[in-house]
Amino acid sequence: MTIQTLAAVARSPEEPFELVEMDLLPPLANEVRVKIKATGICHTDIAVKEQSFALPLPMVLGHEGAGVVEEVGGAITHVKVGDHVVLCGDSCGHCSNCHQGLPFYCKEFVERNLTGERVDGSSCLVCNGEPMRGRFVGQSSFSTNVIASAPGVIKVPKDLPLELLGPLGCGLTTGVGTVMNALKPNPGSSIAIFGAGTVGLSAAMGARLAGCEKIIVIDVNPSRLEMAMEIGATAIVNAQEEDVVENIQSITGGGANYSVECTGVPEVVIQAVNCLTPPGWCAQVGVTPSGITVPLEMDQVVFGRGIRGVVMGEANVQNFVPYLAELFRAGRLPYDRFVKFYDFADINQAVHDSAGTGEVIKPILRMP
Ligand SMILES: [Zn+2]
Ligand SMILES: [Zn+2]
Repeated sequence: MTIQTLAAVARSPEEPFELVEMDLLPPLANEVRVKIKATGICHTDIAVKEQSFALPLPMVLGHEGAGVVEEVGGAITHVKVGDHVVLCGDSCGHCSNCHQGLPFYCKEFVERNLTGERVDGSSCLVCNGEPMRGRFVGQSSFSTNVIASAPGVIKVPKDLPLELLGPLGCGLTTGVGTVMNALKPNPGSSIAIFGAGTVGLSAAMGARLAGCEKIIVIDVNPSRLEMAMEIGATAIVNAQEEDVVENIQSITGGGANYSVECTGVPEVVIQAVNCLTPPGWCAQVGVTPSGITVPLEMDQVVFGRGIRGVVMGEANVQNFVPYLAELFRAGRLPYDRFVKFYDFADINQAVHDSAGTGEVIKPILRMP
């Protein structure tokens, strides 16, 4: 059935998010209607609103939703009404990459997650009689109720605190998954992680779980570096005060075996390659400004060093998110230490405190 939902609309970089009542149309056969309990705010949401990642606006953003299933389409079998779910991106399920178990590289990724519409061009949101762009990363979770696409609806245990679980769907999957699924470090190896936001800190926790011996986190914010030490880093480098590559080389005795670049800043990308010992791999996770070229010193690359982009931790999210939930339950993924809750109505304050001042690492909005 069509219901009312309260959604935060992103209109332009200059205007704040505006909470607007609108209609949410019934789910199609392969969709699920979810009442959102809470949603994380991720850097990508803010990048789209600020238009450094230029998707069409206005749009309802948000892609770390957690909630309760309230209605399922006719073809849905993997969740039922009342289930607790975490939401993730959409994939087609039939392209060659989906067939190989690589849904994060689905050939319809852009159409399904970033246009604000279904692949048939329709929208599930109607605002003042006009279609409103939604379905951001298969969900648009800055809304009290959402229509989500089946591949991104993941059942999680009911005895875990649902309001904390949304970030498992993006930030945690991206950070932990990049280390565990893409880099697959040997136990005892060293890893340098650039950027101590949610993804970088999650990569550090993933590195610890993978048995890395030296886990070096690099940032410019002292309180974030402190948090990195709390959740499992073995060394930190303040890039504002110290020579980053030199420091990593001296801590590791020659260079790191792996690196994870979470900032998207071109100069940092170069450091993330130059800090590697040969052979060594850098996972590029941070989104660089579009059209950017990064000059790499080929003397560095030729000795077995390389860089490769990694999306969504290359995770099969239907299995990986419940796995992360169990790690959290066991106390081995203590991301709750860097979470701060806000009321949905305070979304602009939450954006200010995280992307603006950097004082909050992972804001989570509690829905009314
Ligand atoms: Zn995200
Ligand atoms: Zn596909």
